[in-house]
Amino acid sequence: MTTPAGRSSTHDVIVDAVKRVLPDLRSPVALHEPSFGGNEWQYVKECIDTKWVSSAGKYVDRFEEMLKGFTGAGYAVATVNGTAALHACLLLTGVEHGDEVLIPALTFIATANAVSYTGARPHLVDSDTATLGVDASKLDHYLRETAAVRDGVCRNLRTGAVIRALVPMHTFGHPVDLDAITALCARWQIQLVEDAAESLGSYYRGRHTGNFGTVAALSFNGNKVITTGGGGAILTNDPALAKLAKHITTTARTAHRWSFMHDQVGYNYRLPNLNAALGCAQVEQLPGFLESKRALAQRYFDAFEDVSGVSIMREPAHCRSNYWLNALLLDRPDVAVRDRLLETLNGLGIMARPVWTLMHRLPVYADCPRMDLAQAEALDARIVNLPSSPFLAD
Ligand SMILES: *Cc1c(COP(=O)(O)O)cnc(C)c1O
Repeated sequence: MTTPAGRSSTHDVIVDAVKRVLPDLRSPVALHEPSFGGNEWQYVKECIDTKWVSSAGKYVDRFEEMLKGFTGAGYAVATVNGTAALHACLLLTGVEHGDEVLIPALTFIATANAVSYTGARPHLVDSDTATLGVDASKLDHYLRETAAVRDGVCRNLRTGAVIRALVPMHTFGHPVDLDAITALCARWQIQLVEDAAESLGSYYRGRHTGNFGTVAALSFNGNKVITTGGGGAILTNDPALAKLAKHITTTARTAHRWSFMHDQVGYNYRLPNLNAALGCAQVEQLPGFLESKRALAQRYFDAFEDVSGVSIMREPAHCRSNYWLNALLLDRPDVAVRDRLLETLNGLGIMARPVWTLMHRLPVYADCPRMDLAQAEALDARIVNLPSSPFLAD
């Protein structure tokens, strides 16, 4: 049993360690703020001066080229946001109304919403404590008990639905165990769609995340590693899918000099040139952001080195993480300790946050099929995210 006095000292030691890392406590310290120290003004001003602000212009092409170059993906298609990119990714892998799509219970709601937009149902999967992402071995056990491959597709034997795809998410930028997950998808005839919204600049065995499945989605929302205000991208190494990705995200319009012909239901998901201009300036600074974020993570490691009962999440084996969001992990799940830390830190103007509410605890996704979620539930009671803006390291 921990005594009330013991508790309070652990709490105070943790708070002191956080305060040592964060240099300036006079103003509130955000969880993750964008940094605009490069060519943002110049590029955005050029869009306005030339009137190329909307769905055509050179910055979209340039941004896509830069994303390809940075990630090593064969193709990149920019979109209005990461959720739209995920939605398009699911359509591109053949997800249909009535299908099921495996997603982690521990994710941001966008993953589940994108599945819902296709008319499919999220099917919730437990987490691996070592990566904070999908636990491939637990999922394999579960599928052996509840699913079977018939005529080249995986069927849920309980619901009769096709399990079409798995969408692992690289939590806080830490890559999932992609060797185990790609093997699982091959064995079960399931499409692999990476939710790489948080993992720009994260690598698994030297290869950039987003290159391991059929398609992947990135996000450039205001709180991500780089931002376009709002924005996202689809990555793929398949030329036919890249072409189709561009087509369905640009209203499925067929080429003609003036006629408006569209050959299927398409989406207005194209990233405006104005946002792409911001994105180009941000990618130029990405290597520097990643260096700063790694330095900040190191400051957290050092501050917590001698603090017992907690640790700071480190990149998994064989991975290089972007350290998008630093996570304080309590050794043992304890909602009371977690909530008291959140109270104290936020009271000090340090915007610490809990992890997202687990999908099965949201009313809208409470009835989804799901496996045992013990590890995700334990992680929910262990995680406190700490301020992680790159400039905090300066
Ligand atoms: C940010 C994010 C997305 C996409 O969000 P948008 O705000 O639509 O760009 C998707 N999945 C996860 C896990 C995210 O963190």
